[in-house]
Amino acid sequence: MGADKKHSIARFLMPTTSDPLPTYALPPFKESENAELSARIEAVRQKWGERLVILGHHYQQDEVIAHSDLRGDSLGLSQKAAASEHCRVIAFCGVHFMAETADILANRPEKLQDRGGERVSVLLPDMAAGCSMADMAEVDQVEAAWSELSEHVDTKKIVPVTYINSAASLKAFCGRHGGIVCTSSNAESVLRWAFERGDRVFFFPDQHLGRNTAMSMGIDPAEMPVWDPYADFGGGNEAAELQQSRVLLWKGHCSVHQMFTAAHVAQFRQQYPQIKILVHPECPREVYEIADEAGSTAKIIDVVRQAPAGTQWAIGTELHLVNRLKQEHPEQEIHFLSPVVCMCATMYRIDLAHLCWTLENLDAGTPVGTIEVDPEIARWSLVALERMLELS
Ligand code: SF4
Repeated sequence: MGADKKHSIARFLMPTTSDPLPTYALPPFKESENAELSARIEAVRQKWGERLVILGHHYQQDEVIAHSDLRGDSLGLSQKAAASEHCRVIAFCGVHFMAETADILANRPEKLQDRGGERVSVLLPDMAAGCSMADMAEVDQVEAAWSELSEHVDTKKIVPVTYINSAASLKAFCGRHGGIVCTSSNAESVLRWAFERGDRVFFFPDQHLGRNTAMSMGIDPAEMPVWDPYADFGGGNEAAELQQSRVLLWKGHCSVHQMFTAAHVAQFRQQYPQIKILVHPECPREVYEIADEAGSTAKIIDVVRQAPAGTQWAIGTELHLVNRLKQEHPEQEIHFLSPVVCMCATMYRIDLAHLCWTLENLDAGTPVGTIEVDPEIARWSLVALERMLELS
């Protein structure tokens, strides 16, 4: 087991989401029964107590959520774990960029000073749990776009804004260039902040969140060219389009939320005339603009919680969250807004076997899946994150 374990550790220590994802064997106990894995996970939790915090993202499968100390969205989870006085290890059942954010916030300079220099370790139970949206905006592509843009507009007057669903290297780019991070809850206030500081915004990596937010603020879609990093020139735009832009949208999307269509909305409305359509702002414009309500994961949960019993909902967000809302709100009639399965396949990679394997290696002193952001990248990411946090 010793040599095998060393080999596995080397393969799992992958520094950024932009690196090619490795192929590797599942943990040796992958086939173990869930009950046995749960007991083993709980044994490590008991032993480590408050020193270990397991974070479960809302899109995570139920078996994993059952072992989580906290359930929530990526920023909220990272903030809560970072605020914990006793936490020394975070096991993040989410995706790579979330673990990076947790590392940055838990090991910010003042926290390290309070702990006498002791770091909080952040573990991702499967290093192949990346985010397809974050991977669509690699920092080298962004740097190249910025440089090419400088031939057409004054980049000093562009404020880069990145959605929190992005690699730490892109957050750091925004920090270095006077930019900021946003979430799906605060994107509008962040854009207002940005327009107080520049003539235009370059929004990464989710074109849908950028477009939906900017259009809600009254910005004309004609002033929002999409920058395609694979186009030969100007991101696929004429110089005049770039010069007239107010919001440049990076050509990225969430592969889960991209799947919902206006035809799905029409089908539900035809079948259930009273139904309310509730979607996440990562959905395409054609869906967002005809929905009854839209908002972040937190808002979706809140809207369902506060609705009168008997309300019919078709919800356009990740499948595990919708199924959990169905279980937790039997007083509502909840449907998933698609006939096809839209789940976050990378997050789904984290199962009980990976969580158990991660915790037992931690306990054995051979940690696997450690996420430690490069100090310079962490420093500049924190600048962009703090600009956002100061807004709230
Ligand atoms: S749901 Fe979409 S944005 Fe969220 S982690 Fe999965 S791929 Fe990324």
